[in-house]
Amino acid sequence: MASDVLGQPLQAARAGWRLEHSYTEQLSSLFHSPVSPTPVRDPQFVVLNGPLAATLGLDADALSNDEGAAIFGGNALPDGARPIAQAYAGHQFGHFTALGDGRAILLGEQITPDGRRVDVQLKGAGQTPYSRRGDGRAALGPMLRELIISEGMHNLGIPTSRSLAVVSTGEPVYREQVLAGAVLTRVASSHIRVGTFEWAAAHRDPGALSALADYTRRRHYPDISDAGRPHLALFDAVVERQAALVARWQLVGFIHGVMNTDNMALSGETIDYGPCAFMDAYDPATVFSSIDHGGRYAYGNQPAIAQWNLARLAEAMLPLFDPRQEGAIELATSALDRFASLFHRHWMDGMRAKLGLFAGEADDEALVDDLLEWMHRTRADFTNTFRMLSLAGEADKVVARDAAFAAWHARWRLRLQRQPQADGEVVARMRGHNPAFIPRNHKVEEALAAATEAADMSATARLLDVLASPWDHERDLPAFSSPPAPGGPAYQTFCGT
Ligand code: AMP
Ligand code: MG
Repeated sequence: MASDVLGQPLQAARAGWRLEHSYTEQLSSLFHSPVSPTPVRDPQFVVLNGPLAATLGLDADALSNDEGAAIFGGNALPDGARPIAQAYAGHQFGHFTALGDGRAILLGEQITPDGRRVDVQLKGAGQTPYSRRGDGRAALGPMLRELIISEGMHNLGIPTSRSLAVVSTGEPVYREQVLAGAVLTRVASSHIRVGTFEWAAAHRDPGALSALADYTRRRHYPDISDAGRPHLALFDAVVERQAALVARWQLVGFIHGVMNTDNMALSGETIDYGPCAFMDAYDPATVFSSIDHGGRYAYGNQPAIAQWNLARLAEAMLPLFDPRQEGAIELATSALDRFASLFHRHWMDGMRAKLGLFAGEADDEALVDDLLEWMHRTRADFTNTFRMLSLAGEADKVVARDAAFAAWHARWRLRLQRQPQADGEVVARMRGHNPAFIPRNHKVEEALAAATEAADMSATARLLDVLASPWDHERDLPAFSSPPAPGGPAYQTFCGT
């Protein structure tokens, strides 16, 4: 039976909650603190993600009412919840800090009908022991933004946390302006971060550190056996997943914006959507975050930063690799060194697919680099340049007006002719790897403005509908596929939201 925070029973059991608490039960209190969500004045659904609810075994109809809004607003607890805030540290813009969930509260781990275990977390649910000077709250715009972009990433097939609900609180939050408050329900394979390992290491607690490594391995990498060097095998596997993940980001022009070590999940999912955005014109130096003055987290730096973060993970895990420090460093270094070649392989495999190539040839890298160089020089739209290549008439228009592109295009056509696949197969491959629709910044902003300024959710609903089928090249929706008009203001996104 569900009960609200005041202890009154609710009839929400039929909603399908099946919450467990392996994190709290298997890891010491170093890693978590019990904390209840702080109730809000007037929780009202803004979005309830029905398809996601279904995959979690939750009945959206049974939740689409005041009781459901009370749960997702933090005024009531679902059946079986044991709310906690998680402790972690992190390197933020290169500097080590103790952090923890300052405004996120984990309700528990939902066991899905297909047997997966996923965290259900309220973001913006009030203060926790880790809030420092923060108010524990979140604003409606940024929470809807996380929902739109994370669902967009999921639909592009990129591992990511997801967004189950956004509930408005009926309370103001005070930022540079007074904004409407909201709570986002985030669903993730887990919220174990590089920073969680750094937290354990900073406490010089070898027992806690190895328990965390064992727990992470069982939860996310169950195929790694206990035998041999399981902790090193875990690190290897994490390196591999991060190399694959960041390659996926690069291949769609996604910029995370704050790749601090507390925002890198050991599961290999994208988490913590703050000042993230998709690039329009191709430029490796693209930065959107208003606080990233040095361009540390620019598009072109993301692979190197991922490796830097993994080096922090290796440092934290060192005592687990080998009790002798020198031996441990040697093992960690050679494991970490694999990142660059793994990333490169995923990136080149993905780029070949985007160009309709099947097997690899030695000159492919130059072919890719030369296209990117042309795109950079001409400020070509990242998404639409690749899409244009599979639309014969469109590519011909650019060939007719740009000699440098024409030369590149001729080389690429020759390369295509050297492979046995028919044109139809080539086009199908390209269309499956070059999205027609991404969450374009100006469309996201348009939707958020209508939602926050006029309580009009129609633009958000429409955008979510378009983003649900990013590979549907038959839909002709220039309003959603065109880049913003040139000469507009530079796009910026904000942290501390
Ligand atoms: P983020 O930049 O979202 O990864 O957050 C960095 C740290 O700041 C995390 O420990 C968050 O929990 C914390 N934080 C962000 N916003 C707030 C807030 N409004 N109140 C309390 N803590 C916050
Ligand atoms: Mg974070």
